[in-house]
Amino acid sequence: MSKSAPAIVWFREDLRLTDNPALHAAVASHRPLVLLFIHDEATDGLRPHGGASKWWLDKSLRALAKTIDAAGARLTFRSGKSADVLDDIIRETGAEAVFWNRRYDKPERDLDARIKEDLTGRGIDVSSYNARLLNEPWAVETNAGGYYKVFTPYWKQARQCVDARDTYGRHKTLSGPKVDSESLDDWGLHPTRPDWSAGFGDWTPGEDGALARLEEFLDGPINGYKDNRNRPDMDWSTSGLSPHLRFGEIGPLQIWRAVHAGMEAGSIHEKDGLHFLSEIGWREFSHTLLFYNPDLATENYNDSFRHMPWRTDKAALKAWQTGQTGYPMVDAGMRQLWQTGWMHNRVRMIVASFLTKHLLLPWQEGETWFWDTLVDADPANNAASWQWTAGSGADAAPYFRVFNPISQGTKFDETGDYVRRFCPELKDLPDKYLHAPWEADAATLKKAGITLGKTYPNPIVDHSVGRQRALDAYDTLKEKRDAA
Ligand code: FAD
Repeated sequence: MSKSAPAIVWFREDLRLTDNPALHAAVASHRPLVLLFIHDEATDGLRPHGGASKWWLDKSLRALAKTIDAAGARLTFRSGKSADVLDDIIRETGAEAVFWNRRYDKPERDLDARIKEDLTGRGIDVSSYNARLLNEPWAVETNAGGYYKVFTPYWKQARQCVDARDTYGRHKTLSGPKVDSESLDDWGLHPTRPDWSAGFGDWTPGEDGALARLEEFLDGPINGYKDNRNRPDMDWSTSGLSPHLRFGEIGPLQIWRAVHAGMEAGSIHEKDGLHFLSEIGWREFSHTLLFYNPDLATENYNDSFRHMPWRTDKAALKAWQTGQTGYPMVDAGMRQLWQTGWMHNRVRMIVASFLTKHLLLPWQEGETWFWDTLVDADPANNAASWQWTAGSGADAAPYFRVFNPISQGTKFDETGDYVRRFCPELKDLPDKYLHAPWEADAATLKKAGITLGKTYPNPIVDHSVGRQRALDAYDTLKEKRDAA
C-alpha cells in the first residue's frame, strides 16, 4: 500500500468538518482525500428520508460542499447502492483506504459491516469512528452486563464515561483528486410540486448554522432552560439544535465541552447546564434503545401492547395531521410542524398523547407522520419518544397518564401567544376561552369572528369521553396480558 494512494472519506450522518473523527484520521493519514456523499435510496432495508429531512439534507450538503470548497477540495456527490458507488470510486481513483463514522440503526449497521468485510477482503483499509454519541451503546452497561432500560441510572453512569479527548478543530485545508460528481439539483431533495417549505426560513442548515445556534443558546437562553424549556410560547426557550444533531452538523461532544466550559467559567448556571445535558442524555439513551431493539420504530418495546385495541379512523387521523381536531393546543402543534418542520417538545408530548389516547390510534401512525414532516426526524429519538408517550416504551410515561390538552394549554401557553400564532382564526378570543373555544358563549364567539364547525372545528372527541375510552382500552390490555 502506498501513502500516495487516495483515501475516501465517506460522509453520512456527520456533515461537518469540525470534530469529525473520521475526517481527522483521514487527514492524519497524509493521503490525498476523496470526500464523498452517497445518496442511497437503492439498498434494500434503508428507510428513505421523509420530505422535511430531504429539504434539510439538500441545504446541509450545499453548506458542506461550500466549506469543503473553501478548504481547497471538493465534495463528490454520487447516487446508487453504497457498495457499488464505493467500488466505482475505488476503481476510478485507486483509493486504498476508506474512513467513516459509525451509524447505529440496524440496516445501516448491517450494510456497513458487509461493505467493510468486502473491502478489507480486497486489501482496502477500512477505519470507523464515533462522531455521533457521547457513548456508543455498548459502552454503558449495567453490572449484570446488559443495557439500561431506565433513564436515571443510565445517565448517572453514562455521564461518567464521556470520552476525555479534546474536540478536533475544523480542517481548513484539504486536498485530493478531482472526481466526477453528480449535481445536487438532480436529486430532487427540495420540494417542487408544490414547494411547501416557505415556512422553513428560520433555519440555517449546515455546520456554521449549528455552531451559531449553539453559541446563541449558550450566550443567553440556557440560563433559565430548566424552567423555560416547557414554554412553547417563548421564542427559542430550547436550543433548536435537534436537526443539526440529526445530520451531524455538530456532535454531542462539542456541546458537552462547551456547556462544561461555560459552567466552569460561571457564565452558565449549573442547574440549567446539567438539565440541558440530561436532554442530550435522552438522545443517547434513545440510541441505545434503538441499537438493542432494531424494530423500535414499528414494534412495541413492551410486548403486552400487542393486546391494545387500537382503532382505525382515517378521518380522525387526517384531522390530527392537519391540525383540525378542535383542540387549539393540539392544532397549533400540528400546524407548527407542517409550517416549520419542527415542534416544541412539550407540544410533541401533547399531540402524541392525543393521538394515542384521546383518538386511540396506533403510535406508529404518529411516528410515520413525524418521520415525514420533522426536519429533525431521527430513527432513535422519534421511535423512542413515540413509544414513551404511548406507554409502550422503555421507562415510559404510564398509559393511564393522559395529557389534558386544555389544562396543558393554559399551563404552558399561558399568554396564548403560541396558539394565536399557529391558529390565527382564534386570535381574538379572550385568553379565558382560548384553549377551549366551545366553552365561550355565542356573543363572545361572534365578537371574535368565530363560528365553531365553520371557521374552527368543534372538538372531534369530547375530552372526558376520549380519556375514559383510553383508560378502558388499557384495562382490556391488562386483562388480556394477565390472562395470557
Ligand atoms: P433541547 O431541549 O434544546 O434539547 C437538546 C437536544 O437534546 C435536542 O436537540 C435533542 O437532540 C435532545 N433531546 C431533547 N429532548 C429529547 C428527548 N425527549 N428524547 C431524545 N432526545 C432529546 N427529537 C429528535 O431529535 N428527533 C425526533 O424525531 C423526535 N421525535 C419526537 C417525537 C415525540 C412524540 C416526542 C414527544 C419527542 C420527540 N423528540 C425528537 C424529542 C424532542 O422533542 C426534540 O429533541 C426537541 O424538541 C428538539 O428541540 P431542541 O433541539 O430545541 O431541544
